[in-house]
Amino acid sequence: MANVPDAPDPGPGEVRLAVQAAALNHLDLFVVEGVPGISYRFPHILGADGAGVVTDVGSDVSSVRPGDRVLVNPGISDYTCEFCRAGEHSLCVQYGILGEHHPGTLAERLTVPVHNVLPLPLLDPPLSWCEAAAFSLVTLTAWRMIMTRAQVKAGEWVLAWGIGGGVSLTAMRIAKLAGARVIATSSSDEKLERARALGADVTVNHRTHRVVTEVRALTGKRGVDVVVENVGEVTWGDSLRCLAKGGRIVTCGGTTGPKLVTDVRPLFWHQFSILGSTMGNAAEYREVVRRLGEGQLRPVMDAEFPLERTREAFERLKRGEQMGKIAVKIAD
Ligand SMILES: [Zn+2]
Repeated sequence: MANVPDAPDPGPGEVRLAVQAAALNHLDLFVVEGVPGISYRFPHILGADGAGVVTDVGSDVSSVRPGDRVLVNPGISDYTCEFCRAGEHSLCVQYGILGEHHPGTLAERLTVPVHNVLPLPLLDPPLSWCEAAAFSLVTLTAWRMIMTRAQVKAGEWVLAWGIGGGVSLTAMRIAKLAGARVIATSSSDEKLERARALGADVTVNHRTHRVVTEVRALTGKRGVDVVVENVGEVTWGDSLRCLAKGGRIVTCGGTTGPKLVTDVRPLFWHQFSILGSTMGNAAEYREVVRRLGEGQLRPVMDAEFPLERTREAFERLKRGEQMGKIAVKIAD
C-alpha cells in the first residue's frame, strides 16, 4: 500500500467522497495482471466498486450535499458523445471504469462526476457499507445483460455458469425476477446449495457432471433460451451446445480467456444471437438502485476485509472461493 496524493478537489460537476467501503470484482484481478492497451500511472489505485459519504462538491453541484450517503456507479462517461446523448452511457467513446481507467475506490477519498452517485436507499435492516459497496458493478452489469440485452421473459430457461461469481449470481436473481427458470452451475456442491436457497430452480455440478447432457435432459432435449456467459474459453463451446433454437448467449467477459471458437453452422442454422454487454447506462443504474430500495437485489456477501488486508481479499477472489461479494472496509 502506498500513500498517494489526496483525491483532487471536485471541479464543476464533480463530488468528493470519504469512501467507507469498496468491493472487489474480477475486473480488479485483470487490472492487477495488466490489461493490454492501458498504460497505468503508478501508484495506481484499484477498485471499481465503492460507497461513501459526500465531503465536498463542485461549484455547480446541487443534487447532492456534503453528508449525503451515496452509492457509486463505476462507469465514467463524458455525457457529450453521440452514444451518451442517446442515453447509452456504457457505449461512451470515452468510457472508462474506476480502478481500471481512473483512480479507484480502494482509497479513503475519491473524486467522481456527480452523474456517478445516487443516494443510498434506506432499507430495513439498513445496508452495511460493505453491502452498499458491493452492489453497483455486478447488479448494473447483470441487469443490462438479462433485461436489456437478452430480454429474458417469464417462463424462459436461463443457464448461468459459475454461480459463485458476482455477475452470475446476480444475473440468476434478476432472471428469477423476470420469471425465468434458472439452471446454475458450480464446481462446489456447497455453492449450489446456496444457489438453490437464492432461487436457482436446478443446479449442476460442472466438475462431476457434463452440463450439456444435464441441460438437454432437464429441458426435454430442447436447450435453454439464454446462456449467461462470463467464463469464456472453457465454457463457450458448451454454452452454444446448450442453446435452444433461436437462443441467445449474453456475455460480459471471459475469465478463463478471451479467444472463443464458434462453429458458424449451428450459429446460423439455429439462428442463435451472441450479445455483448458492458456495465449499463444511467437509466439502468437508477432502475437497479430503485429496485434495491424496494428490497430486491440486496448483495449476497461472501467476506469482508479491513483495508490493510486487501491483499488477502484479492487472493480469495483469485482462488475463486467466494460465494457472493468480497468487500473491503475502509472507514470505521
Ligand atoms: Zn459519451
